[in-house]
Amino acid sequence: MGIPQLSTGDMLRAAVAAKSEVGLKAAAVMKAGGLVSDDIVIGIIRDRIREPDCKVGFILDGFPRTLVQAQELDKMLAEEGACVTKVVELQVPDEVLEERICGRWIHKKSGRSYHVKYAPPKSMKKDGSGNPIPESMKDDETGEALMQRPDDTASALVKRLKGYHGETVPILDHYKPHGVVSEVNANQGMDGVWSEVLVSLKRGGK
Ligand code: AMP
Repeated sequence: MGIPQLSTGDMLRAAVAAKSEVGLKAAAVMKAGGLVSDDIVIGIIRDRIREPDCKVGFILDGFPRTLVQAQELDKMLAEEGACVTKVVELQVPDEVLEERICGRWIHKKSGRSYHVKYAPPKSMKKDGSGNPIPESMKDDETGEALMQRPDDTASALVKRLKGYHGETVPILDHYKPHGVVSEVNANQGMDGVWSEVLVSLKRGGK
């Protein structure tokens, strides 16, 4: 859609890989599935949305994750005479998420995402027990190796879901009175999710 997509998760993973000061602070918390401190992520977003490509709008992915982050975001935008115009809630039942994240493989450079069951790469080969052989997991377009996120594990998921329900869901109530929140059923095929997202972006809002 030509709109900059700002993912705090991607930015933090880049900081961890670069071993920057932020990355060193965030690495252990991220691996365990906890939330990085509000100060750090708010600082990252504040710097990024000042860049010229964000002048006419941007999509935030994985931010805000706490009420404090939402309030700070509202303040930052208000300073520019702007506000949050759409919130899209991707709904997936908790019990479905373990299979979704534990089967996820990613091509780091492009962000292309695969799944051992729902979207396997063409190269995938399985061992005798039916598990994918890691060396066979290659990106369809470049043939480069795919990777799994260190926090895409069943144990980190428990913590990630606790953070989501405890800290992130209240943000929906914060934005609902503004009439900007849409719900999307993300527990269906990719085409279905995409068409619901498009409908929700066109509907109402500001
Ligand atoms: P994600 O790729 O959005 O799932 O983010 C991966 C991890 O980065 C999360 O589990 C957190 O540890 C951290 N993270 C990303 N965004 C935020 C945020 N807005 N607030 C706190 N921690 C975050």
